[in-house]
Amino acid sequence: MAEKRFFGLKNWLNFIQSFNHLLFPETCLICQDELSVSSTSVCSICSGELLFTHFEKYTEPTDLDKLFWGRVQLTSTFAMLFFEKGKSTQKILHALKYQSRPAVGIEFGKMIGEKIKDNELFSSVDLIVPVPIHPKKKFVRGYNQSEQLAIGISKALLVPTTNHFIEKINHTESQTKKGRFARWDNVARNFTIQQINSKIKHILIVDDVITTGATLEALVRSIQEKKPELRISIVSLAITK
Ligand SMILES: [Zn+2]
Repeated sequence: MAEKRFFGLKNWLNFIQSFNHLLFPETCLICQDELSVSSTSVCSICSGELLFTHFEKYTEPTDLDKLFWGRVQLTSTFAMLFFEKGKSTQKILHALKYQSRPAVGIEFGKMIGEKIKDNELFSSVDLIVPVPIHPKKKFVRGYNQSEQLAIGISKALLVPTTNHFIEKINHTESQTKKGRFARWDNVARNFTIQQINSKIKHILIVDDVITTGATLEALVRSIQEKKPELRISIVSLAITK
C-alpha cells in the first residue's frame, strides 16, 4: 500500500527555513554578502582568507607557547587565528561578543577542536573549562562567548565542558588607576576555583582572544595554587599578532 504523504514535517521545516531565508537572508559576518541556506556564518571566500596561525602544524614552540614561558607551566597551547585590527578575526570576535551570535562561537569552537584533536598533547584533556565572564556581563550579553567556543570544542573532542569549575567574583574596579602588580593581583582575586572530580587530570581552558596573557596567567596560578597536580592547557580563538 502506497503511503500517501503530501508533505513531511522535515519538508515543512525546510520550506519554512527557505522562506525565512528569503525574507531575512543571512549575510557573511565578514564581507556581508548573502549566504546560501546551508552555509556557515562566513562565506566560502572569506573562509579561505581567514588569518589562521597554523600553530597545529608547528614542531617548534609557537609565539603562544613562548608568551607563557617563565610565567606558568602549561601542557599545551593553541590559538587558531591571528587578531589584527580591522581584519576578519576582529569581525568574528565582534559578532561573537556584541551582535548576539552565540552560534558563531560553537561553529568556530568546532573548527578549533578539529585542528587540535589529533595532537597528542591535547589527547589527555578530560575537561574543557571556559574563562568565565562576570554574571552581570553574561546577563547583558545573554551568554559567555568562551563558553560557546568550549561547547564547539567539546563536540569535536568528545570531552565534557563545565562552567562551574572556575567562577568569577567581584566586579573589577577601574584597572587603569592601578599599577602593574596591583592590577595582576586584582585579576587573580576575580576567580574562585571549585572542587572537581579527582579523576580529572588535564583541563583545557578556553579563551576568546589572548593579548598579554595576564588574565590566563592569573587564572592558571589560581588553579595551580589549589590543584598543583592538575595539568593545564589553554586554547584561544585568537591571538594578537
Ligand atoms: Zn564573506
